[in-house]
Amino acid sequence: MSPNQRRPLVGGNWKMHLLRDDAQRFCGTLLAGGVLPADVVIFPSCTLLQTVADALSDSEVGCGGQDIHPEERGAHTGDVSGSQLVDAGCSWVLCGHSERRQDHGESDDLIRQKALSALRYGLTPLICVGETHSERQAGRTFETLERQLRAALTEGPATFTLAYEPIWAIGTGETATPEIAQEAHAFLRGLLAEMLGDIAADAKRILYGGSVNPQNAADLISKPDLDGFLVGGASLDPEKFLAIIRSCGSDS
Ligand code: PEP
Repeated sequence: MSPNQRRPLVGGNWKMHLLRDDAQRFCGTLLAGGVLPADVVIFPSCTLLQTVADALSDSEVGCGGQDIHPEERGAHTGDVSGSQLVDAGCSWVLCGHSERRQDHGESDDLIRQKALSALRYGLTPLICVGETHSERQAGRTFETLERQLRAALTEGPATFTLAYEPIWAIGTGETATPEIAQEAHAFLRGLLAEMLGDIAADAKRILYGGSVNPQNAADLISKPDLDGFLVGGASLDPEKFLAIIRSCGSDS
């Protein structure tokens, strides 16, 4: 169980997986899981947003986009705007996931613009930061996290949630140890305190992402600055995802 007062949040990032039937079945199983000890949000591909949002509409579980274009509309083939996400039933959006930073060359400044655009439409941006393996090896983890966080928040969104996702742990099966994750989360919370003040920093949820599974979730969430998870691979199986969510509760 999370030892702090912040209610845990668990996000499921489906990336480019699943079809509509899978999504329907997933939502049915998730909702049959009863009362959950965490806030939950699912981030499906664009083609599944409406299906997931409709299936979850009578529940507390949220739906979010995996990306957002900074502009309202225009000639941006393949992109999606904040108003389109809201129209599909979203209340959240991922900003700066490392796969977007790497596959699409997204800069720190673009991520700030995307987060600002999210807020204009009432979407909560879930801003992802994290270092590469070589940055960690070179002792540059904190420098990378500080650069990403300051770039996202300086003249950036007033409302957001943060995810620490070390790139070397994403989809690799190599999870950060609870101690490594806690060290990074405490560092990020310290930076938030400098930028936003102690009260705001203390209230802010910081999620951990990187090969979270039902076996390692309880140890990770026991750390004081971990407030939940952003889950990729294990979020595709509703039973595993439910087990991770339940690990955030007092009776886990
Ligand atoms: C992610 O995509 O944000 C993620 C953490 O993936 P995985 O859980 O598969 O490492």
